[in-house]
Amino acid sequence: MAVSKTQPPDRIREAYAAGQRLFGENRVQEFGGKVEALLDLKDADWHMIGHLQTNKAAKTAELFRAVDSVDSLKLAEKLNAAARALGRKLEILVEINVGGESAKSGLVPGSSALEDLLGSAPRLDALVFRGLMTVPPLTSDPQGARPYFRNLRELRDTIASRNLPSVAMDELSMGMSHDFEVAIEEGSTCVRVGTAIFGERAKA
Ligand SMILES: *Cc1c(COP(=O)(O)O)cnc(C)c1O
Repeated sequence: MAVSKTQPPDRIREAYAAGQRLFGENRVQEFGGKVEALLDLKDADWHMIGHLQTNKAAKTAELFRAVDSVDSLKLAEKLNAAARALGRKLEILVEINVGGESAKSGLVPGSSALEDLLGSAPRLDALVFRGLMTVPPLTSDPQGARPYFRNLRELRDTIASRNLPSVAMDELSMGMSHDFEVAIEEGSTCVRVGTAIFGERAKA
């Protein structure tokens, strides 16, 4: 996945021309402002990967095919209602806080909040549960992320082995510019790469 947040439409078009189809954005408002200029890229696949407030659910369901950062049952319910109102399905990943960091979004492995979300999958019938996503604690050495990636894979395997109704666990979104090689070694199915593709982002 090419993480195109903060990149203007021209840069995104360049990546598209080079063959890139899967893109990640982290702000509904920012993407909403550039989507007009990208509408002709018919087979581009736009994923929301940033923290989402529930009041953005309707707009998100309009703009994106998938949300890779679902971190609460409440958000899932809002996205489900929004997708249903549009008569479409929205693919989702459940975001996991593998490092248990208080400042980070994501559900904690073993928590009742995670169980509630997974258990609600059959009722949330406009959502397609496809797997897990994580942003591990920042470490200077990419090898430092390895135990977190491994934990996410093991959590995915554990959940998959339970055969929960309406919960598929095929996708493991982990790894960014500085640690994607390690993430792939640990079983990532989707690395989210921004800087290594587009260069340093302008500071906001
Ligand atoms: C920005 C972002 C990325 C990409 O980060 P890079 O270090 O630029 O590759 C990946 N995942 C999420 C959730 C992001 O917000």
